[in-house]
Amino acid sequence: MPELPEVEITRRGVAQHFTGQTLLDVTVRQPRLRWPVPDSLSSLAGARLDSVERRSKYVAMRFGAQVVLVHLGMSGTLKVVDAQSAWDKHDHVQWLFEGKALRLNDPRRFGSVDLLAARDYEAQTHPRLASLGPEPLGVGFTPEQFFKATRGKTLSAKALLLSGAAVVGVGNIYACEALFRAAVRPGRAAGRLSRADCTRLHSAIVAVLGEAIERGGSTLRNFQAIDGELGHFQTHCDVYGREGQGCKRCEGVIKRRVMNQRSTFYCPGCQR
Ligand code: ZN
Repeated sequence: MPELPEVEITRRGVAQHFTGQTLLDVTVRQPRLRWPVPDSLSSLAGARLDSVERRSKYVAMRFGAQVVLVHLGMSGTLKVVDAQSAWDKHDHVQWLFEGKALRLNDPRRFGSVDLLAARDYEAQTHPRLASLGPEPLGVGFTPEQFFKATRGKTLSAKALLLSGAAVVGVGNIYACEALFRAAVRPGRAAGRLSRADCTRLHSAIVAVLGEAIERGGSTLRNFQAIDGELGHFQTHCDVYGREGQGCKRCEGVIKRRVMNQRSTFYCPGCQR
């Protein structure tokens, strides 16, 4: 599943290729994604792509007073292709620019494409955006705000991270990695974390996501298509996928436990 760093790298790739260009045409081959792709999407033909932004795991393409909001769901990718190139299976939507096109490929179709007024995007009033927590790499995410968001919460620290209420875009892998780095046991009740725990966890979230984006960014420069190399992000894990292997910080052995139906990796030796 694409996590926030992959989405951010995708955003940069789309921005790098198409910002400032005029959208020539939109083709929807399969409108039945997570939600129906709006017919009005094709009305954007002739508009200029002003900027490509990101909110949580949504890529937001601004065309004047309208914004196209793309979510990659479980298996989606946005790729840059030559305008003439043959359609791949599961290519559902195409935005055609001069010479090149952006295509959404999504085998499982949990992704989505929405069209909204720029003011609803900015005010975050659109239903897809209304209940999102703060951006992990934005100014609204502070140790103090994060500490407050944990108060009175009986759910586990890991579940709180995945819920998106305290901070958005921290998926399963990065939640495991951030909790390890902060030396916080994933199953601890969020409301019982100390201020110091929250401060460490806050820094760990920012660092883990920032480093993943940096690694992805260094691969982005070299390739035309935005997809393809994204799996490389996940090879730099301290705990995720390392069950039974030695801890990188203490003498412990990494354990795997299923919490809320998700594999959770942690070190019982040094995460408390
Ligand atoms: Zn350890």
